[in-house]
Amino acid sequence: MSAAVGPVAPATLVLEGCAVVTMDGQGSEYTSGHVVVTGNVITAVGPGSPPPASEDTVRRIDASGCLATPGLINTHHHLYQWGTRGMAADATLFEWLTELYPVWARIDAGLIRPLATAALAWLARSGCSTTMDHHYVFPKTGGDLLGATIGAAQQVGLRFHPTRGSMDLGASSGGLPPDDAVEDRDSILLASKAAIDKFHDDSPDSMLRIGLAPCSPFSVTSELLTEAAELARSAGVRLHTHLAETADESEYCAEHFGCTPVEYLDSLGWLGDDVWLAHGVHLDDAAIARLAATGTGVAHCPSSNGRLGAGICRTHDLVAAGVRVGLGVDGAASSEESSLIGEVRQATLTARAAGGPRALSVRGALKLATMGGARVLGRDHEIGSLEVGKLADVALWRLDTLAHAGIADPVAALVLGARPPLELLLVNGEPVVARDQLVNVDEREAAANAWRAVLSLND
Ligand SMILES: [Zn+2]
Repeated sequence: MSAAVGPVAPATLVLEGCAVVTMDGQGSEYTSGHVVVTGNVITAVGPGSPPPASEDTVRRIDASGCLATPGLINTHHHLYQWGTRGMAADATLFEWLTELYPVWARIDAGLIRPLATAALAWLARSGCSTTMDHHYVFPKTGGDLLGATIGAAQQVGLRFHPTRGSMDLGASSGGLPPDDAVEDRDSILLASKAAIDKFHDDSPDSMLRIGLAPCSPFSVTSELLTEAAELARSAGVRLHTHLAETADESEYCAEHFGCTPVEYLDSLGWLGDDVWLAHGVHLDDAAIARLAATGTGVAHCPSSNGRLGAGICRTHDLVAAGVRVGLGVDGAASSEESSLIGEVRQATLTARAAGGPRALSVRGALKLATMGGARVLGRDHEIGSLEVGKLADVALWRLDTLAHAGIADPVAALVLGARPPLELLLVNGEPVVARDQLVNVDEREAAANAWRAVLSLND
């Protein structure tokens, strides 16, 4: 006979004695404060000591010397590209794609699982609690690639927004990818519908939401863009694609469609508050105004843009116009560091190099990686700030080591300084990183597995 067991109260975790940067609407910050998490929800944030609670269900962490921020949100990535880092290191986007497409066309579920695990694990180490993935290469014999990346995200413990990407415009039809790297439109739409039906969870504390993401103007047909948008809107999921990344792409659009990349998407009903675009580098004033008016989001990926020499995103102008802007590391093949906190630093420096010292503040840059990303993913009521009632995605950065001890401003330390040790990363109230080590994944094993997959992919 077992004794009757009543409902168990959710565990409460108290972080106390830390600096707190909430990223709430008022920009609330506390030099020494607390964050209290009960279950998967933030239940208190404020200065000084936390409110009293019954001690038996409470775990207290002395977080002095640390800075608490919202977990960072990554709005553009290609996890499988962990397998092709360091290749075509000095190439333009089109040269780089042309070299890598044939390698990517060999990807399968067995290879992508360890590659995605490594990419996600490394992202978690850089303070990321929520990430999207844009997977658009689906070889016929590849197996369940989307399922494999979802399995990796669940293993690492991140909140995940994978997109079912696609390419249907091969070289013989005027596209950039080789014909054997693309799918036919009907297969894409069927698989997209199946992915939504199988995986999409739209509950408020969802750990898994699907989007649809045809790859780019030069690798998909306008018919696919139109039909993917219809499917996404009928299913209530978001839309994503690459846009206005390089001058070459602008030339392609002028030549093939007689308009700019933004005008092209606009003509297909592809602007709106359910759409976000990776890069948005080559935008004129009219395009920025149109993105703002339609509520379309932008995933700014400054390291990748620098690595490929694509240009400099007009971050200041986008934000000033009211465009929703988040940050993205982009795939590791064009952004080998793949660090989201590193991307905050890169965004700051890039914006200032182009637009002067006031082009982007350190707090403005951190906001892009938190509330900005939450808005881009349509989750600003759930994540992106440390506020009571929001989901417990919290990064706790250690600022009392050699790199930062004594620094005047904790936000300047985090954004401009070296990447601090990540003392704790909570995702949905669960620890994913503790003392700069992954909680759910053995890092050496993940590295060894990814290395084997890289060798196999390039064999
Ligand atoms: Zn990309």
